[in-house]
Amino acid sequence: MINKVQYLTLHGLRLTRWPAAIVFLLAMLIASSMGQAAQNLAELDAEYLSSEKRLNLEQAESAAQWQSFNAAQMNQGISNRDYWIRFTLANSTERPQVRFLVSQTSYLDNLNVIYSAADGSLRSIELSDRQPFASRAIDHRTLVAPIELPARAQTQVYVQAYNQKPDSVTLGFRLFNEREFRQLQQRDYTALGIFYGALAILVIMSLVFAVMLRQLNALYYALFLLATALMWLPLNGLGFQWLWPKAVYWHNEGFHLSYLVFVFFALQFSKNFLQLAHLSPKLLRVFNAVQWVALVTAAIRLAGFYLPVLVLSFALLVVLGIIIPLASAVVWRRGLGYAFWSLLAWLLYAAGLITSIISAATQWLPWGMTPLLMVQTASMLESMFLMIGMATWLVSLELDRQKALSLANEDPLTGLGNRRCLQAAFEQSKSSPEQDTRPSYLIMIDLDYFKAINDTYGHDAGDQVLREVGQLLKRSCREEDVVTRYGGEEFAILLRAADQNRALAIAERIRQEFSATPTRYRHHEIAHTLCCGIAEVSNPQWQPSAQEMMRHADEALYQAKAAGRNQNHVYQPPGS
Ligand code: GH3
Ligand code: MG
Ligand code: MG
Repeated sequence: MINKVQYLTLHGLRLTRWPAAIVFLLAMLIASSMGQAAQNLAELDAEYLSSEKRLNLEQAESAAQWQSFNAAQMNQGISNRDYWIRFTLANSTERPQVRFLVSQTSYLDNLNVIYSAADGSLRSIELSDRQPFASRAIDHRTLVAPIELPARAQTQVYVQAYNQKPDSVTLGFRLFNEREFRQLQQRDYTALGIFYGALAILVIMSLVFAVMLRQLNALYYALFLLATALMWLPLNGLGFQWLWPKAVYWHNEGFHLSYLVFVFFALQFSKNFLQLAHLSPKLLRVFNAVQWVALVTAAIRLAGFYLPVLVLSFALLVVLGIIIPLASAVVWRRGLGYAFWSLLAWLLYAAGLITSIISAATQWLPWGMTPLLMVQTASMLESMFLMIGMATWLVSLELDRQKALSLANEDPLTGLGNRRCLQAAFEQSKSSPEQDTRPSYLIMIDLDYFKAINDTYGHDAGDQVLREVGQLLKRSCREEDVVTRYGGEEFAILLRAADQNRALAIAERIRQEFSATPTRYRHHEIAHTLCCGIAEVSNPQWQPSAQEMMRHADEALYQAKAAGRNQNHVYQPPGS
């Protein structure tokens, strides 16, 4: 495995800069959750009522338990009680006005608004999430009731909200005038457009990686991103608005299924990405178990059960926010450098996720669903961090590939190239002949009586001699020459030279230096010699095959050996 520091610096992902990046991203996150111009009902002089039983207007009006409405009642946890809020809106102008009462969440089942119209009659707007999208008074991703205020009058408004089946209740209704409402819509759709646009780009990129590199990991990443989109589509109401406007069941009960799909694919991707199979088999078992729980939970919903699935899917989202950052930290410490990005991404996500689940499922937090917006921003940043992680991972794959390639072409004893490297270099020199018109020469080198060195001084001494030959050859050649250990005690040099005499001169220098410098091994001085066979192996007019090249140089070497030892010989074509 590649050392963490090594490849993070290698690829310009300098971690020393990350604190600045995080501060910047957090600032963006906070900025994106601010700037809500509207009026919250908790800021009006509103009153509030909650009842076990479903009430009608008369019953509500005459109920005794009305109390003042404030931020503490914003989040009601998971419930299907009946909630009422009443308040008075004043229009002191000469003209009728409209106020838009906007539900903060897309999963409130029923919203009824009752107020007296200009002619004194009661006006009632009944909105339901359990009706197709087209039934809505206003085209918006959450339920919106337009309230018409007569000129120079006070209008008392009753708002009734409840869920058909127990679900998370947020009474974070906000009031907008017409202009503010259009602005809200613009801002919403711009932000969500960026979110889904960025997700789409990431999905396409990772699918391209998956196909081009045949990497399952990249495919899991694409599926994880799609699951992310699938989770947010119901949650921000866009799925119901645009994709499945008639699928009432999926908009309501489908919520929790989309959480479960997300849980499943987040774990599927992470366990591969974090290489749990070999870095932490224990955590892998935990991930697998949680995936099974998600699958079984989904099956329970499809079998018709509701409440256990709701509770379990919330719980699983929390589990996700704990085990993925944990696993990321563990494998990062075990040397998987890019897991840092996964850790960062999931910490961010977990913080937002856990606060919004607490908001949705309990009454502890007074700030409505603002954390949800933060989770969505976090989710986006998370996807980008994971993309950086993916890129880092791809870089590490490439590094591993290059390393494997160079190992396959290298001789471990001398550090020279091997026979495969010589052949590749020869083929390459033939395919690019224009740059250098000088002929190529092959010098084949074989040590004399090498077997005797092994027999006399031992195999280690022989190895020492071979290493010194390697160094001698490297010293004697130029950078662009190809110096290889051809096998055993045979070496080969492929080089370009102006003519045969230059090539011979290089071989002579090698031969003389080798015989003049015995190898020191323990207390011995091992004297040795070698022979070189030199052959011209290509020029602009003549391009032989690799076998032909070898045959000529071998023949020259054989001649040198036959003439005694410690000799060089140049190949002479027959008839020359
Ligand atoms: P000649 O002068 O005819 O070339 O005789 P030679 O003994 O050099 O040639 P021969 O081919 O008979 O023997 C080569 C020896 O090189 C035999 C083999 O054990 C030894 N050898 C091959 N590879 C290595 C190695 O990696 N390390 C060591 N120490 N010896 C090796
Ligand atoms: Mg030999
Ligand atoms: Mg030999």
